[in-house]
Amino acid sequence: MKKRNTVLTLGILAIIFIIAAQAIILRGLWKQQNEMLTLRYRSLTQDAMNSLRGTRVSVHDTVMFLLSRYSENMVKELPLIKDEQKLSEKKQEILEYFTAVLNKEQDFTSFLSGYFGEQGFEKKFKYRIVISNLEITNTDTLVIYRNESFENRRPAGAGPGFGFSSQGDSKSSISVLRQRLFDNYYYLNFEYYIDFSDKQKLILRETAASLLISLLSILVVVTIFLITYRNLMEEKRLSNLKTDFINNMTHELKTPLATITVAGKTLEMEKISKDESKILETAKLIGKQSVHLNQLINIILEISMWERTEFQLEKKKVDIEEFMNDVVESFKTGYGNSSSLSQKYNFNGIQADIDLVYFTTMINNLLSNAVKYCDKDPLISVEGSVKDKNICINISDNGIGIAKADQRHVFDKFYRASTGNIHKYKGLGLGLYYVKKIATAHGGDVSLTSKPGKGSIFTVTIPY
Ligand code: ADP
Repeated sequence: MKKRNTVLTLGILAIIFIIAAQAIILRGLWKQQNEMLTLRYRSLTQDAMNSLRGTRVSVHDTVMFLLSRYSENMVKELPLIKDEQKLSEKKQEILEYFTAVLNKEQDFTSFLSGYFGEQGFEKKFKYRIVISNLEITNTDTLVIYRNESFENRRPAGAGPGFGFSSQGDSKSSISVLRQRLFDNYYYLNFEYYIDFSDKQKLILRETAASLLISLLSILVVVTIFLITYRNLMEEKRLSNLKTDFINNMTHELKTPLATITVAGKTLEMEKISKDESKILETAKLIGKQSVHLNQLINIILEISMWERTEFQLEKKKVDIEEFMNDVVESFKTGYGNSSSLSQKYNFNGIQADIDLVYFTTMINNLLSNAVKYCDKDPLISVEGSVKDKNICINISDNGIGIAKADQRHVFDKFYRASTGNIHKYKGLGLGLYYVKKIATAHGGDVSLTSKPGKGSIFTVTIPY
């Protein structure tokens, strides 16, 4: 128990540890791939800008023209606005106009997309322009908009045109460019972000192999753990069965032995030795208990023999109806109460090939269980029929029935339903194991339907 719990705890801890370790490693890898992707596209953008410079083509011609004309008007308009509220509304309008022009009129996006494509990289992306500083300038400078991060890294002034630096960061999208545009009337800094709709997919593709290996290693560890734990449980179950069997066997053997001992002592008594009928009665009791003891020892020996050598059937052709009648009748005689055992056969005079000794014991086991596992007057019925080249024998009772969970185990060696070592009903857990073994040895099988509290039906099917 202690060993099992330790293995369980250690196993679970190991699995948690491995999953956590893999998660940390994968997270690091994901971050690294993300950064690499950002770096790759930043450096590509840098290359694109360099090649753009070489061609002396400006992708911002239209933008600069529009902004310059607009700013020239603003230089005139702005000093006329005295009202604070109106001024701030105007500033907002200017910012919106600049952003709209930048987003619509620049040719940088198509140039960059073409460049990425040429280099064999993903060329489909979304872009976004974020203005970080905007000033309308003439003799005076009027700040229209300035964000905090720009305050901290304000670039040194330069002549008209546009400049760039490829820094900046953003979590969801990649900031590939920081640019500056200006002329006599305005001064503008903005950032250019690109956003791959399938950025996650790109990273996933890069990390797929590592992800797969991680998942496989977790799967292997979990499988090994489950197999080990199952083996441990099975070992425990078998050891419990063995202990139960030894306890049951001791109990089973002790009862007839005790009866015989008491009967022997009774015979020694002077009063009894003179009474012939009493002597006969005691001798019968000793005889009955000895037969029972012998049967018990035989079944144990026989089953232990099966472990070592495959048992051989000595089959004989018999009229199955006649045979069943004989077996049930002699069981009735031994059992004493004939009214509770009924028989009904539809074998149509079929001859079946069976081992008479084993088959008799098999039917007797089922009949004695039907009597034994009953808490009221037993009502047992034995029915026989023929179906698809098989003979079917049903033995049904009105006994205590078998719980669903026990049903698939009752044919296992040593298995006894209910808890505890020795329960109300005596037995070794070998009877149904024997039945199954004999039925399968005849090329057939045995099945069970049962309802706790209502009774059970055992069906033996044997080909003929
Ligand atoms: P044993 O009777 O020696 O315990 P068996 O192999 O004959 O062993 O039966 C296995 C278990 O199946 C029994 O312990 C009992 O719980 C259950 N069982 C067998 N036959 C019946 C029956 N007719 N009705 C109810 N329970 C049964």
